[in-house]
Amino acid sequence: MDLPEVLGSSYRISRRRLLGGAGACAALAMTTPLASRGVLANPGFAKYPFSLGVASGDPLPDGVLLWTRLAPEPLDGGGMPMQPVSVAWEVAADDKMKTVKRKGTTLARPELGHAVHVEVQGLEPGRWYWYRFSSGAVASPIGRTRTAPAANAPVDRLRFAFASCQHYESGYYTAHRHMAGEDLDLVLFLGDYIYESKAHDGRPRRHDGPEIVTLGEYRNRYALYKSDPDLQAAHAAFPWVVTSDDHEVVNDYAADIDRKHETPRDEFLRRRAAAYQAYYEHMPLRRSATPNGPNMALYRRLAFGGLAEFNLLDTRQYRTAQPCGAYKDYKNAARCSQALDPSATMLGAVQERWLLAGLGRSRARWNVIAQQVPMMQRIKPRDGEPLFNMDKWDGYPLARKRVLDFLANRRPSNPIVVTGDVHANWVGDLLADFDNPNSAIVGAEFVGTSISSEGDGKDTTGKGRRMVEANAHIKFFNKQRGYVRCTVTQDRWQADWRVVPFVTRRGAPISTRASFVVENGVPGVKSA
Ligand code: FE
Ligand code: CA
Repeated sequence: MDLPEVLGSSYRISRRRLLGGAGACAALAMTTPLASRGVLANPGFAKYPFSLGVASGDPLPDGVLLWTRLAPEPLDGGGMPMQPVSVAWEVAADDKMKTVKRKGTTLARPELGHAVHVEVQGLEPGRWYWYRFSSGAVASPIGRTRTAPAANAPVDRLRFAFASCQHYESGYYTAHRHMAGEDLDLVLFLGDYIYESKAHDGRPRRHDGPEIVTLGEYRNRYALYKSDPDLQAAHAAFPWVVTSDDHEVVNDYAADIDRKHETPRDEFLRRRAAAYQAYYEHMPLRRSATPNGPNMALYRRLAFGGLAEFNLLDTRQYRTAQPCGAYKDYKNAARCSQALDPSATMLGAVQERWLLAGLGRSRARWNVIAQQVPMMQRIKPRDGEPLFNMDKWDGYPLARKRVLDFLANRRPSNPIVVTGDVHANWVGDLLADFDNPNSAIVGAEFVGTSISSEGDGKDTTGKGRRMVEANAHIKFFNKQRGYVRCTVTQDRWQADWRVVPFVTRRGAPISTRASFVVENGVPGVKSA
């Protein structure tokens, strides 16, 4: 929210100081409260307040969301006074911030951890911009962002990467550093931005304490992750479009059910509210995603001209519980009658209707469903009944069938599902009926591996090989770390699986392990 009225004379003085090049941290002595509102218009900082970097997100043709958070003591509650603090922002057409196109001030409020979310408007479509914040005499790093192309504009090319699962203790964010150097318009992050688990010994890095439950603990955990310079570089290089999975709250939660701890519903919803608030505070999300208690409106749609429309899903907040077993048992379970309950849902009725209505209406060349858990069937072969991981769409086969039937019957143009969660790369066709090998192919799914979760990983595993053999629609498996780079044109979608050979040490190189393509109008993946 822009509040130009907080611009006072003391603010203007500090602004001249800032433009005069004073980048160093000021002493606390220059603090000047605006008495009537309790606003600190001209704060001083004992330590650098932009310790968590900057970010931008959810680009529209005429604007983008800018994010930062004032946190001079990032790992210890932030270190800010319990007052709103004035923060100025600027958007420029050049990387030296010489040609400022838009600027304003906003408030970093204590009730949101002194996070700042600025919805910039009035920009031109399909253009790079640079931005920075300042507060008191201190300026943030400069970030770069890009607006979306004009609505229905004929766009030749969109290039983006998608990534997920950055368990801090498991390794370094070398993949983010490489991603920051790519030629991209956008990054999609599909969940497990943080992990809630306690600290462990003997890993490359260490969490900051026990399993996180309170708002203060979630804030400190985000601050730990976001203090990583490689992650900051990737945020500063491109706008991100984010959605969350389970570990932003607790492993395998399902709506109001804490599958891991089985805490009472009220207690769990309090935790979920704290987790969602900390998520919002640390992500470049628009105001529409501001949590309301334990609820957060995260699913949304973003268009890139006439070329692509992204449907960002939330497959945790509204789902029914994982069927066919107790916590973790359902990860290797035979399909039981509970899985075939017609009231079982992955998206909830409202989000499911919204998704199908949007796909039905879309005139985009590529219709992207960006979401968390694998949609393709992944049979785990063994003697006797096959096993499934019921935390994935395999645990919700009738809900999946409703989506796949829609793709088969209504035929929205080129459906592509992009997925995170499973710390492995998978490529597969989506079939109208996975139990019929001659079924029509209705789309493609690209599953991206983790940035760091599960450590170094391997090119392949015996389990992965057996699953590729047992599932004819699956074309590729790999368990190294990295991200997926997509180059989308009117005729073709190419996806490149970018992998690093290790994450438990710094400095890994990046390479392309595999590439697959989907041709316009031809459902299903082909080797590039
Ligand atoms: Fe994960
Ligand atoms: Ca997950």
